[in-house]
Amino acid sequence: MRLILLGPPGAGKGTQAQRLVRSLGIPQLSTGDMLRKAVAEGTEVGRKAKSVMDAGQLVSDEIVNQIVSARIDEPDCANGFILDGYPRTLVQADAVEKMLSDKGLALDAVIELKVDDEALVDRIAGRYTCAKCGAGYHDTNLKPKTEGVCDQCGSTEFKRRADDRPDTVKARLWSYYKDTAPLIGYYYAKDKLHTVDGMANIEDVTSEIEKIVRSS
Ligand code: ADP
Ligand code: ZN
Repeated sequence: MRLILLGPPGAGKGTQAQRLVRSLGIPQLSTGDMLRKAVAEGTEVGRKAKSVMDAGQLVSDEIVNQIVSARIDEPDCANGFILDGYPRTLVQADAVEKMLSDKGLALDAVIELKVDDEALVDRIAGRYTCAKCGAGYHDTNLKPKTEGVCDQCGSTEFKRRADDRPDTVKARLWSYYKDTAPLIGYYYAKDKLHTVDGMANIEDVTSEIEKIVRSS
């Protein structure tokens, strides 16, 4: 099962991807995580990405595409994967088509999480993750079972993303509508698009996605 999760920042892509990893047994590929890992490991791509990231610029489509392509070749992706936060542009979407067909693979489904713009700011402003295992939480929507303790790994340290402040959310939304939202039409025209109501509660969103996965 090869899936893409599409939606604005705060729509719930990361939350759903973490849940699908457990229910479907396939990995979540987040380009942000992959870039940080490549930089930490000092691979060739990592060295290229580091200089761009250190200069505060966006990593090029070419570098991101290379990283994803190499990651898909790893053994844990043999039964599929969930792309979260990639592709982000039409150029990247074309690159995904090409890299998959070069490998003799195809995309099964693209799932769009649709959420009201007003809800996004609140979701982003309230979110945080476990500093140790990356599990995602929210101040009101998704608290750990025991306050201050990660459900997944027991850690008591959490972190918030520097770009999750309400004043930067509008800028990220703008970039989503400008560069990424056209992918909705792109995948609709390719008969790959499934739209899920991302305003529903987290469990209901997961079961909607699982229904789509079963029929794809
Ligand atoms: P994305 O990866 O799309 O940017 P996240 O998965 O990080 O979004 O979700 C943003 C925040 O909203 C998180 O704190 C998450 O717990 C919360 N959230 C995700 N899905 C829902 C939902 N269906 N209802 C309410 N809150 C949600
Ligand atoms: Zn944890």
